[in-house]
Amino acid sequence: MTLKKLQSFKARTGEPLGAPLLATSAEQVDAAAIAAADAFVSWSASNGATRAALLSALAKALEDDRDDLVALADEETALGPIRLNGELDRTAFQLRRFADMAERGEPFDVLNDPAVAGGPPVGHPAMVRQRVPLGPVAMFSASNFPFAFSVLGGDTASALAAGCSVVIKAHSGHLVLSNRVAGLIPEVLKKMGLPAGLISLIQGSGTDVGVRLLSHPAIAAGAFTGSTRGGAALQAVANARPRPIPFYGELGSVNPVVALPGIVAAKGAELAATLAGSIALGCGQFCTSPGVIVLIDSATDKASNDTFVELFTTALAGQKPHAMLTPGMRQAFDAGVHHMVAAGAQALLQEVGTAEAPHPFLAQVDAVNFIARAELREELFGPASLIVRADSLAEALEVLSAVGGSLTVTLWGAEQESDDNRALVRGAMNIAGRVLFSGVPTGVAVTAAQQHGGPWPSSTQPMTTSVGDAAMDRFLRPVCLQDAPAWLLARQGQPC
Ligand code: NAP
Repeated sequence: MTLKKLQSFKARTGEPLGAPLLATSAEQVDAAAIAAADAFVSWSASNGATRAALLSALAKALEDDRDDLVALADEETALGPIRLNGELDRTAFQLRRFADMAERGEPFDVLNDPAVAGGPPVGHPAMVRQRVPLGPVAMFSASNFPFAFSVLGGDTASALAAGCSVVIKAHSGHLVLSNRVAGLIPEVLKKMGLPAGLISLIQGSGTDVGVRLLSHPAIAAGAFTGSTRGGAALQAVANARPRPIPFYGELGSVNPVVALPGIVAAKGAELAATLAGSIALGCGQFCTSPGVIVLIDSATDKASNDTFVELFTTALAGQKPHAMLTPGMRQAFDAGVHHMVAAGAQALLQEVGTAEAPHPFLAQVDAVNFIARAELREELFGPASLIVRADSLAEALEVLSAVGGSLTVTLWGAEQESDDNRALVRGAMNIAGRVLFSGVPTGVAVTAAQQHGGPWPSSTQPMTTSVGDAAMDRFLRPVCLQDAPAWLLARQGQPC
């Protein structure tokens, strides 16, 4: 059988980057899944020190190759060396953070529930709750984070810390970089005496190799960062298996920013500049990009909101986004702009842009139309935003409710406690995984309290996060041991 050839391109010029690569064959996908299952046997029983050593060594391998990796990533994605160096730092930081968690024994935490004498419901046997790793994880790399959500990104790091093996589906937007990063792994594994199948890379179309991988009986979970449409398709694959498996999809999001009249009047120019910078950052290719800006017009506030819209339009017009990651994303952006205008949004800033880079897009719509037209609530991936004019707080709450699910909601000007602000916070918390009260949602800190995942359509599993310490919990399944023998309890949560 002839294997399909895959060609990567330079994002700025569209020229081919490197020689064509071969797509992974169906047999090779199956072999990767089986090798991951074999590697899982010993890795799932490894101790925290071994997991920490691997994760730290992977961080070091990335850092040691920084200059070449960043130069290659820049050619392939056009994201620029400053952003890419920062992203590599973040990726190494994530790997080391999960290394520390493994070293501290967090995957092996146990909850002791000693026996209580007497009959039920009060009396019960001795019970211990601990967790076991799920098994081999199929990981789908993101397009827009070639390091931090890709081969050695947060999903891989958290799955390894949990005790899972990983088969990575490379993203077609940075195939050469993905191969280069994956090329660092075998040496690290070999030095530690770990099986090569513990972390492996496959490549090819999502509907082909991606679906085959996720359908393989040896795969126990899926982790995905990408579009709502792609995530929904793969979630259906995970659910349609004879044995359905958890599928952790981080998807698209419109990230509403509600700017209350008081702060708009007081700080309009500053907020306009901040928002414009956030929308154009990375050419808007962030799942947390502020895509919907809600203003509340009353008789007294409409004029200052109008002034803010003018300032915001001017500030965004001055932004010069760089090239998008792939021609496909650029086409999707241009088509999305067209659809938004066709759906009734009034364009405030709409130029086609150059062949190399898009121009920012800004439009305005009233809340009634935004609530009525589902097309206006779809994520437009790129440097774009939609201003929604509500005529009351109640209507602004309806706007949030119509959004339904978002990674973030930002509330500007809710500093004082009041009935209105409590209602707004409730409305925001009902639909978002993270609620911000200052700044902009782009930038997702890797911390213990982080929550990157909200109700559908922003993620498939809103009670989990793909960023921060709790990302590891996705790959651990609770088990209760009842009246366990002393030898088993002595293992302190370590799988046997
Ligand atoms: P995408 O088109 O969904 O692609 C992501 C991966 O899924 C690729 O490997 C792709 O394979 C595969 N795929 C797509 N559709 C599929 C299908 N129907 N069946 C099987 N596999 C499929 O996403 P993208 O365009 O790369 O990324 C942009 C989107 O990602 C935006 O919507 C953005 O908001 C979202 N995003 C979300 C987050 C988050 O954390 N929530 C972070 C970054 C980006 P191919 O190689 O064949 O394309």
